[in-house]
Amino acid sequence: MLKGRSAIVTGSTSGIGLEIARTLARSGANVMLNGFGDSSQIKALRSSLAEATGVRVEYSSADMSRPDQIAGMVAEAAAAFGAVDILVNNAGIQFVAPVDEFPDDKWSQILAINLSSNFHAIKAVLPGMKHRQWGRIINVASAHGLVASPFKSAYVAAKHGVVGLTKTVALEVAETAITCNAVCPGYVKTPLVEGQIKDQARVHGMSEHEVVREVILASQPNKRFVGLEELAQVVLFLCSDAAASITGTALPVDGGWTAR
Ligand code: NAD
Repeated sequence: MLKGRSAIVTGSTSGIGLEIARTLARSGANVMLNGFGDSSQIKALRSSLAEATGVRVEYSSADMSRPDQIAGMVAEAAAAFGAVDILVNNAGIQFVAPVDEFPDDKWSQILAINLSSNFHAIKAVLPGMKHRQWGRIINVASAHGLVASPFKSAYVAAKHGVVGLTKTVALEVAETAITCNAVCPGYVKTPLVEGQIKDQARVHGMSEHEVVREVILASQPNKRFVGLEELAQVVLFLCSDAAASITGTALPVDGGWTAR
């Protein structure tokens, strides 16, 4: 379906981003991976994915808190593939603390990685997409882009910002064949959530088992984590021609969380 297209997936050395990158590659798109991790593991991931799918798999170590490195990553992908047709802004971090105890540096870091990186990457890919008159921008926001939870001030503010940015970009390019959408997952069991389980246990003074049952999945009516492959398939659909009229949306994939 995506043969001949090329994609960047930020934060794709782990969790949701990795599954999205795999899914886009299996659908025929060349993929630039990005994110932190052990260099030999990343090298092995690149070659196994390229071998399994037959597409080109590149890697950028760009730090999503650094606008210069984001622009460099986009330039590198455009040079390697000839174009960037699909941008998935997925890199993200979390930190949990009451707002009056929230460390200033964590606030700035979360806003930079979870929100500003989306702006910088979109700004860098849009001229090429406009030139070719086709593009798909998918921002991995969160149910926390639509509703709030206590102790997550920076994350909730950043993800609400991602939803606003998504709508603005969509309107600006609405007359082209470029779409910009946000996906808003509920809880997906990835290293990021495993970290949150530990943090929430500390904040609430509960066991990790109690946190999963009574805190994390308390807000998710279907009482199960969202599957990685479910989310990746939604992103793939948004990349398809069938989704050409879907733009500016914030699509919940959250087991009913934001239906409340
Ligand atoms: P994860 O921790 O498994 O993966 C995060 C990825 O981002 C990793 O590849 C990491 O190396 C990369 N990353 C972190 N900081 C970076 C930086 N400064 N520069 C470049 N890469 C960086 O997390 P995940 O759960 O897969 O989350 C991915 C996205 O999905 C995030 O934006 C997160 O907010 C969002 N999300 C996750 C859940 C969930 O339940 N896991 C729910 C809703 C939204």
